[in-house]
Amino acid sequence: MKKDQINALLAPSSIAIIGASATPGKIGYTVIKNLLDSKYSGNIYPVNPKDDEIQGLKNYKTLAEIPGEVEAAVIVVPAKFVSDVIDECGKKGIKGLIIITSGFSEVGDKALELEIVSKAHSYGMRILGPNIVGTLTNSTKLNASFAPYLPLPGKASLITQSGALLIAIDAISYTRGVGFEKLISIGNMSDVDFADLITWLDDDPNTSCISLYVEGFKDGRRFIEAVQKTNKPVIALKSGVSAHGAAAAASHTGSLAGSGKVYDAAFMQAGALRASDLNNLFDRTLALSLQPTMKGDNMLVLTNGGGVGVLATDAAEKYGVPLKFAPEDVQVELKKHMPDFGSAKNPVDMTGMAGTDWYYKTTLFSYGHKWVDGLVVLYCETAQTNPEEIAKSIRKAVDESGVKGKPITVSFVGGERSDKAMRWLVEQGVPAYNAPDLAVNAMAALREFHLLREMVGHKPRGTNLLDDKIARTIIAKARKEGRGALTEIESKQVFEAYGLPTAKTILSTTEEEAVSQAKKIGFPVVMKIVSPDILHKSDAGGVKVNIKDEAGVREAYNTILANALKYKATANIHGIAIQEMAPWGTETIIGSVNDATFGPTVMFGLGGIFVEVLKDVTFRVAPISESQAVKMLGEIRGAPILAGARGEAPRDRKALADVLSKYAAMIHELGDEIAETDANPVLVYEEGKGLKVVDARIILKTK
Ligand code: ADP
Ligand code: MG
Repeated sequence: MKKDQINALLAPSSIAIIGASATPGKIGYTVIKNLLDSKYSGNIYPVNPKDDEIQGLKNYKTLAEIPGEVEAAVIVVPAKFVSDVIDECGKKGIKGLIIITSGFSEVGDKALELEIVSKAHSYGMRILGPNIVGTLTNSTKLNASFAPYLPLPGKASLITQSGALLIAIDAISYTRGVGFEKLISIGNMSDVDFADLITWLDDDPNTSCISLYVEGFKDGRRFIEAVQKTNKPVIALKSGVSAHGAAAAASHTGSLAGSGKVYDAAFMQAGALRASDLNNLFDRTLALSLQPTMKGDNMLVLTNGGGVGVLATDAAEKYGVPLKFAPEDVQVELKKHMPDFGSAKNPVDMTGMAGTDWYYKTTLFSYGHKWVDGLVVLYCETAQTNPEEIAKSIRKAVDESGVKGKPITVSFVGGERSDKAMRWLVEQGVPAYNAPDLAVNAMAALREFHLLREMVGHKPRGTNLLDDKIARTIIAKARKEGRGALTEIESKQVFEAYGLPTAKTILSTTEEEAVSQAKKIGFPVVMKIVSPDILHKSDAGGVKVNIKDEAGVREAYNTILANALKYKATANIHGIAIQEMAPWGTETIIGSVNDATFGPTVMFGLGGIFVEVLKDVTFRVAPISESQAVKMLGEIRGAPILAGARGEAPRDRKALADVLSKYAAMIHELGDEIAETDANPVLVYEEGKGLKVVDARIILKTK
């Protein structure tokens, strides 16, 4: 049923154009012209109240007059008439509404947009748009848009939130030689969103790769799930990362979440590749739509020029697939097809003397060799060689190798002849680029995508709690007292309930109690103010560390109380916490935010200046697998510190990853209650010695 409705939008067998016009230049004219020009084979029904005929087609005064069924309607009437038109469409039994008209939420009229969606749904119709250019499909020759022509045919389908960009990409597809099966303008995403379309495209036999231009999601988790379930590569160009999540945040983590890092995490977890810019989106789309993924780490580069070889080497390092020397047997064989001064290491430099035959033989051998997981063939145009012949020899070698499922990318650096040769290669299914780093980037994308998909297969960790009663009881008590945050003690109790190791902490309400508890815990101890009104305890003079004896406890007790009251005279003080003094370790921070788009999201970073000045943190949408947790530890710039920099022992990363994945499970499970959390600092010890959360903060959702 659901699929059917998307079908009506993307592959309709008949279309009515509501707001059809006989006046050239009007959108209601252009859409009909485009449907005719593209040679759409379904029935086209212009609808407007006055004309008898438009561009040789019979015009209908009303939808109801159209004989038989109509599957989709393209709506171009002004916004204020759209709602009534939807009633007519519903009565006619139309399934899909392609609403080109603008003037809805994008100009602030959210109410009108909600109204048309609920009305469409009441008739069982789905909406693409509003505020879109339309939708274009090569295989069915459907140009239901005001973009001038169908794109160059190809196997990629592109969904874009920017209509202007669709029209530009349509044109660039020809100049850049990157073909598309579909171009879909998604506009305001009032109803049909990225997830719906990705799910539909996953079953589309004409689409091998899905490219996205994304400004933002409404429901980030739906996107993640849709991409995770897709078998096809998804490549996303995301813009406008800085405006996201700018709202003031009560926790450290909250203030760091607005940097686009949450989107980075979401794409990664979904298993979607990123494009760095528009050109890169084309480059990667070309590679992913034409080539299989790269299954291992061994990339071999063939070249006739040392310079482009070095550029490729640099790019390989930069894009995460550093070159390794080929094994001896590979080198021996390759040596046969180059002069003495050539190099058979990697890059394999056949020198400027390389002609068609050497290209053929080295490609045939390398592509066929099991050590090679991905082959990049570079060529610098020379006076002695013909680029088209070189291109043919490469294609021939690939065919004759009999190898399947192994990627190849190519770069020809030269003039018009090289461009022509590359165009031919692309038509032959070999992605070709005019610079060596681009061919390497394309291969890196094929590798990255393979690794991303592997990670998607790893199951996220659950909490394994029989129930979450302890946490919910503590939260309910705080809510009953009208509080928006838990105290450190309460927060630690919640953490402990989820198996997170915290420094032992007891509340005392008198000086005598403090003394006896300090003795029980054992000196030295730490003492801290416990007040729901003082979230940042040090700022209020509310933390004393390394207290060595009874006299120290008494003094600290009174000083902390006095400081707290000086800081905030009306503060509600629960008492003073006596805490085990944790041995010093590497300071890290774990935290979480309940992101508006993605929900509970966990953060990790090194503490102190690393987080405060360098903002060296990484995020994941919760829950996460343990392998994602391990990946997070390696992702921060300060990762070498955890690995044991400057002769220090490596930190207990295993325990840290374990705690991180438990933490993510906790905030996911309590996602309905918790807005933000911080465990700052978490002290991490040497391998095998674990870690300790010494400060905890939980801020509740406002309900
Ligand atoms: P806040 O962040 O509210 O100011 P913390 O509880 O984080 O208060 O305490 C401030 C600092 O004191 C911590 O960053 C840490 O350096 C130190 N500290 C706090 N508790 C302990 C503890 N139990 N063991 C060792 N050091 C601690
Ligand atoms: Mg702290």
